[in-house]
Amino acid sequence: MKNKTIIFFDGDGTLWYPIKTKHTVKPHWLYKDVNIKDYHSHLMLISTVESTLKKLKKLGIITVILSTHPHEKVEAYKIINKKVKYFNLGELFTEVHATREYYESKGEYILEILRKLKIPKTKALMVGDNYLWDYKPAKKVGIDALLVKSDYMKRDKRLKTVKNLSDILNYL
Ligand SMILES: [Mg+2]
Repeated sequence: MKNKTIIFFDGDGTLWYPIKTKHTVKPHWLYKDVNIKDYHSHLMLISTVESTLKKLKKLGIITVILSTHPHEKVEAYKIINKKVKYFNLGELFTEVHATREYYESKGEYILEILRKLKIPKTKALMVGDNYLWDYKPAKKVGIDALLVKSDYMKRDKRLKTVKNLSDILNYL
């Protein structure tokens, strides 16, 4: 897994997570809680995210957010862009995309972006926190993938996992 020139990142549970539950449960409960109006204030950036992204930028690696949203496309892009702005990550990502709510969506976005940028599959890496939404869709289209360790993902030995996001630097 060497010579990566582009890295795709999931959002929830990979770059940021709920302050209350961190990596203990899947993060999406936050958006389903009707009592929570301003979800931004209930989220925090995961440690090492900023420093890792700054290093990737220095290395000239292309960074892309692929975050699944159940909303229609225009609304979904508004929401994810607002979140990126809230966390002040705009300068650290080359592209930001709200992917569709079905498992294969991220794989489709990855292939489309690689085609557009003329980058071979072997140069790409997907980093996520969820096997079905991040890891499997990338692998299915022939892209290397890494999972950030959490309490909610099984410690399946076949999966490549990293403890901290900064550990992905060892895979480049
Ligand atoms: Mg996630």
